[in-house]
Order: sequence, then C-alpha cells, then structure tokens
Amino acid sequence: SCLEKQVQYSELNAFVTCARATKLQDAASAIADSESDCIIGSALVGKTVAIKDNIVTKDYPTTASSKILDAYNSSYNATVVDRLAAAGALICGKTNLDEFGMGSHTRPVFTSTTKSPFTRNGQALSAGGSSGGSAVAVATGQAWAALGTDTGGSVRLPAAYTGTVGFKPSYGRLSRWGVIAYANSLDTVGTLTNTVEHAREIFNVLDRFDHMDPTSLSKTIRDRIAGQTTAWSKDRQLRIGIPLDYNTASLSPEVRQTWSRLLSTLQDAGHSLHPVSLPSTHQALSAYYVLAPAEASSNLAKYDGVRYGHRTSGPDANPRDNLPLFAATRGEGFGPEVQRRILLGAYTLSSEAMDNYFVQAQRVRRLVQMDFDKVFALRNPLLDARTEQSDDTASVDVLIAPTAPTLPPTLAEVEKLSPVEMYMNDVLTVPASLAGLPALSVPVKLQGGAKEAGDVDSVGMQVIGQFGEDELVLRVGQIIE
Ligand code: GLN
Repeated sequence: SCLEKQVQYSELNAFVTCARATKLQDAASAIADSESDCIIGSALVGKTVAIKDNIVTKDYPTTASSKILDAYNSSYNATVVDRLAAAGALICGKTNLDEFGMGSHTRPVFTSTTKSPFTRNGQALSAGGSSGGSAVAVATGQAWAALGTDTGGSVRLPAAYTGTVGFKPSYGRLSRWGVIAYANSLDTVGTLTNTVEHAREIFNVLDRFDHMDPTSLSKTIRDRIAGQTTAWSKDRQLRIGIPLDYNTASLSPEVRQTWSRLLSTLQDAGHSLHPVSLPSTHQALSAYYVLAPAEASSNLAKYDGVRYGHRTSGPDANPRDNLPLFAATRGEGFGPEVQRRILLGAYTLSSEAMDNYFVQAQRVRRLVQMDFDKVFALRNPLLDARTEQSDDTASVDVLIAPTAPTLPPTLAEVEKLSPVEMYMNDVLTVPASLAGLPALSVPVKLQGGAKEAGDVDSVGMQVIGQFGEDELVLRVGQIIE
C-alpha cells in the first residue's frame, strides 16, 4: 500500500526516488527467511521507512537533491540504513530535501518543490525543510516512518508544518557514517513519525556506538549517560522550564496561545512551571549562520567534477574557455543557495575575517551551551568532573517552547522571502542544535481546529532536554501528544 500511496500522492513530490517493488519484495523475503536475533521481536519488522536523499543507500541513487550528485550511486549503505534493514524495516525510497539540507521549505532548484498535503485558500502550504519530503511521506502514509537529518531544525520544522512528530536525538547518538555532511559539528540523523512511540522504536534500534563515525558517542559517555538519566515514573512531577527568550515578537498569536494553553494543561496535571532565561538565544541564529556555512564550504570542497557525479562539458569541449574544470563544474552543479553558503563560509574562514566571524561565533556557541547547562537540573555528561555547575533553584527537567514562530506559510509567500528572512524561521530550533541537545517536535491541536477545511490543525511544540536525556524528552512528548 505504500507503493500505491506513492503513486496517489506523486504530485506532492515527497520522493526523489520512489520505492521499487522488487527491492521491497527481496527485503521482505529476506526477513521471512531470517533467524537473526535483531529481527525476532523487533518492532520494525515489515515497516516501511523512507530515507532522506542525503543518506547513502546501495539500492537507490543518492543525490542530496543536487545536480552535482546527479546519478550518484553509493557502493555502501549508511550505518543507520543497515541497522534499519537488520531490524526488519523495508526501505521504501529516497525523500526530497533542500539541496544538501540547506533551507527550510524543501525547494531544491534541480528537482521539484515538495508540497504539504495541507492548503490555505486552495494554495499549497510549505512542508518545511529541509526534510520536507520525509515529513510529507509520513503525513500521507507513503511510508510508516522516515529518516531525516537535522542540522539547525530540518527534522523539527517540517514535523511542525505537517502535523507529524520530529525527533532530533542528542548529537553523536546516531551514526553519521554515510550521511552526506552539511555542517558536521551540528548534523544529526532524526526521525519523522506519526507517533512518539514510533520515534522511540526507531531510536532504540539506531542508538549504538559506530566505530566508522569519529563523532559517535563512546561507550564511556554512553555508560555515563545511562547511569545518570532522570528516572521516570508515570506520576513523576516534572519541572518544566519556559524559555522566556523564545517568546519573541515574531511569534504568531495562534502559536503563542497554543503554547500557553499547553503549559496550563501541564500545570493542571500537577507539573510545575519555571520561567527561565537563556540570554544567548538572541545571538544563536547569527552564530549558526556563520558556523554552518563555514563547515559547509569545507565539506563541499570535495565536489570537483573529478571524483563524484556531475562534470561540466565546457572546458574540455572548448579549450579556449579559460574557466578551469572545477569552477565550471561547481558553477553548474550547485544551486544558488548552496553557492551563497560556500562563498559566505569561505569568507568567514579567510584570514582577514576569521577572528571577527568564525571565532566569535564559536564563542557564542559556547555561551549557548552554558545557558542550557545553567537551567537543567541534570549535569551535562560531556563536562568533565572539575567543571562547576550552578545549583540554580530554577533547575528544570525539560524546556517546552514552540518549534516555529508561525503556522506554515503558503509556498507563494515563501517565494517572496529574502534569504535572511528565510533564516529567521530557524530562530527557535537552532539553539538546541548548537548545544547538541535532544529535541522533539510534537503536534498540539489548535484550539477550535483548522481555520478552514484543508488547513493545518496543529502547532509544533518542542521539548528540549539536557544532553543524553533523549528518553525523558520522548516521555514528555508522550504526555503532550
Ligand atoms: N534551515 C537551516 C539551514 O538552512 C537548517 C537546515 C538543516 O537543519 N539541515 O541551515
């Protein structure tokens, strides 16, 4: 039925490469024959999972929605893909994204824009991005679940815009081996699902050390996390932090009302609310948009037309054309947003700008991390034992805030936005990315339902926890959903 749905919803452009019936059948019979321990008792047996097209797969091409990777076929699977298959999941195609994950509305220039299944005044809404294809695939039943990647909000934002659940685990818990790097110090693999329980089922399968990923959390840190995580019981009274700095002027009335209604419901259920301040939030977005392009400019340097994908026909065909092979290939192969980020990153890393931009942004990143460490009751397991941690009386278990400042805009509205206006949309998701914290976006119903038939009827609300508190974040998500 996922195959039928992929045909039925093909005009939404959720997939770059749809499921192949033969591949699904091969995988299904392999599962039926298997006596592996991973499969027996696995919650994922026979479940269809779509994969964002910046995660490499042997059975399907991987393009990152870029011309530069046109017709690229990986000879191996990403670790996360192998783990899903080993647990009995059926890989059902590759989903659309903003080129290399750079964007917030899934509008790659070389393939088609993904459309949300929701509409306003008959116009398609933005599915969010950059994992918009994964979100729409799940929202419309074209896949049971999907993998996305979240560098600055790319799993959480599309979840918020499509009424699905988006989970970005703590940095380093899920392997990045085989995930095409955008900004590797921020990149995480995340999930898009219909329920929080489904997110947990996938997370439990993927949450393992991987020696192929140098940033995979070591066994020592994993043990430390397991030894200190907040104990959970059904009647535990949570200390919920309300980050006052997230109540920006850009929040729309619907989003602000849903947030405060959710907080009062939680208070009525016996949890306590604590306003907290995260003062570096205001600089976090600027720091992110210095650091992410800087890392991108370095990570994307390898696409030169020699080793991967697209190569220009220009210089070789026409020797009088002075443009070297690399420059011509990259000029043709990368879209304008990717080129903008490469230029920005190359500039902020240059000797004349380094101290004023890159180094300053790293300092802001540190401040953002310290802000979070000050408000969480639990000590950050990554800090060494000598670092003092304040015992602030407001210390909280989790933070709850909206995922995005507004409901999804229409695609026509998105078209009119300048790049900087587009970047502003990430203001609420970027801080948790800079600190590597687990964050979950859960849909919360709008009071009175959708404004009109076909429009969205929920607002994405984010639960953010201390580093390593992925399980607590999922638990709190289940209270909210
Ligand atoms: N919109 C953000 C960006 O363009 C986040 C993207 C992401 O998380 N991959 O950088």
